[in-house]
Amino acid sequence: LIMTKVRTRFAPSPTGRMHVGNLRTALYAYLIAKHENGDFLLRIEDTDQERFFDEALDIIYRTMKATGLEHDEGPDKDGGVGPYVQSERQAQGIYMKYAKMLVEKGEAYYCFCDKERLESLRQTVVGEDGESKEIVVYDKHCLSLSREEVEANLAAGKPFVIRQNNPREGSTTFHDELYGDVTVPNEELDDMILMKSDGFPTYNFANVVDDHLMGITHVVRGNEYISSSPKYTRLYEAFGWEEPKYIHCPLITDENHKKLSKRSGHASFEDLIEQGFVAEAVVNYVALLGWSPEDNREIFSLDELVKVFDYHRIGKSPAVFDINKLRWMNGEY
Ligand code: GLU
Ligand code: ZN
Repeated sequence: LIMTKVRTRFAPSPTGRMHVGNLRTALYAYLIAKHENGDFLLRIEDTDQERFFDEALDIIYRTMKATGLEHDEGPDKDGGVGPYVQSERQAQGIYMKYAKMLVEKGEAYYCFCDKERLESLRQTVVGEDGESKEIVVYDKHCLSLSREEVEANLAAGKPFVIRQNNPREGSTTFHDELYGDVTVPNEELDDMILMKSDGFPTYNFANVVDDHLMGITHVVRGNEYISSSPKYTRLYEAFGWEEPKYIHCPLITDENHKKLSKRSGHASFEDLIEQGFVAEAVVNYVALLGWSPEDNREIFSLDELVKVFDYHRIGKSPAVFDINKLRWMNGEY
């Protein structure tokens, strides 16, 4: 029996403040790794250049430091261990290399379609919420280009994207450790773009390539991602890679049962510190937003959480962020 070391990561996109939902994801990933003497990594997912927000990086670093969620490895930086940064990895050609690997396998292809052609594929569909929306379902037009045609287009410097060649028939099933199986018909998957025309990977593609290359065994993230998860499964299938275990955490709401967002400023870690809460109390409180220990104990240090944390005890129903409960807890520190 070969035991693989547990490896988790926190993979924030630097787009805003570090709200309690982000902190909880980081904390659970940290606890799952540390409970098993494993490794915890920090990876900055900044390939979506438009949404990039400089100050957000500093906020992430400061929050990780203040909460004690130190990561274990990464590229050398200022004499210490830096986080992995996807824009740096993109510059090293990592994602393009893996996209080309899929092209060689027939699992992806170059697409040279221009805006007008894609516009003509636009359809109006009615979503689950009853709202009609416009979508583009790609018609696999460029899949039929010969190797010579592709080479000629590339040599002529034509802009291109690389798309995944997904099946239209059948279905894809994704497994979550808490929610079980999520199945979608393949006709809903579309031939999603892996590499954009600016040479950057799409968010989903970089995420999967890096989780594989970094040997991540357990992916912890918010459950807003669960519906897109079958796309990840299709990528693992295309590469022939083993999927990590996925753990999607329950939604966190405010007292009015509305989703907490980065916009709800009161729920960002640094705002809470400014309001006089101590970091240990915030970490303790956030641990209990969707997870409970076997007994009804409530006060834990980070080390104590490491000892008792069992991810199978993460719940599925939304957790309510209750500032009064946090106030009470803060008094215990
Ligand atoms: N970059 C994503 C975010 O900031 C994380 C997704 C994941 O952990 O897989 O929400
Ligand atoms: Zn095309």
